Amino acid sequence: MSMKILVSTLFLSMLCGTVSASSSKDLPIFDAHIHYSHDVWDAISPEEAIKRLKRLGVTRAMVSSTSDEGTQRLYKLAPQFVIPVLRPYRKRGTLDSWMFDETVIPYLKERLANYRYAAIGEFHVKAEHINTPVVSQLISLAKQHELLLHVHGDAKAVELIYKQYPGANILWAHAGFEHAERVEQMMSKYRNLWADLSFRRDAFGNGQFIGDWRNVLIKYAERFLLGIDTYSPQRWLQIKQVMQWQRELLNGLPAGVAKKIAYKNGELLIQGFAKQKVD
Ligand SMILES: [Zn+2]
Repeated sequence: MSMKILVSTLFLSMLCGTVSASSSKDLPIFDAHIHYSHDVWDAISPEEAIKRLKRLGVTRAMVSSTSDEGTQRLYKLAPQFVIPVLRPYRKRGTLDSWMFDETVIPYLKERLANYRYAAIGEFHVKAEHINTPVVSQLISLAKQHELLLHVHGDAKAVELIYKQYPGANILWAHAGFEHAERVEQMMSKYRNLWADLSFRRDAFGNGQFIGDWRNVLIKYAERFLLGIDTYSPQRWLQIKQVMQWQRELLNGLPAGVAKKIAYKNGELLIQGFAKQKVD
């Protein structure tokens, strides 16, 4: 490459405010959305699961599972790597019904009394169910134990959680699948709201941000995280491609923003939990 071309290429990338295509490839990744549920245990051992994530550059992962046993298996094996998160699910197929099952609360209490967690979630909830006794009690448990809530729900659901518990720290799974403008509104309204970008190909695809997403990610660079979301055995087979997409997304952002979203925000978010670990 001639000097002239090199200089103009550099100038152009400065103008665009992007990092070059290869620059995110070595960034460590904090993954905020890993599941290791029972239908994966036989096919992928805990050792193998950790190995596969590390191979992709993941340096830490928030892990939850159905049932919690999967999270505990990974945590036991790699306590520095795994940040345990407690789901209200004990078996598959309860995403839509757990909020009507009163046995969920004693189950959560029992787990909270015996194991350590950084968050409760990921749980699926609709706005109309936030005020049911089971969901309200789950929110109270998060408050009592000072835990983050990893919420899979739309903006309305998140607003209702904040009504019940204004001081809640919420990690909003998939940014609620809301469009960029709505996410921006939510970020500006709630200072303790973070969001993971898993499954948001509608925000970034074919090497490009869609709509206003790039601006929103830059404006609230401190509050977005990445996540593969290994929600099914099939998804565990696709993690390489998902990570590739995530790194392409990072390449489309200014270097400082990319670093925050890649790992810095996650590390800050779980700081309290990581510190307590030393005891
Ligand atoms: Zn998930």
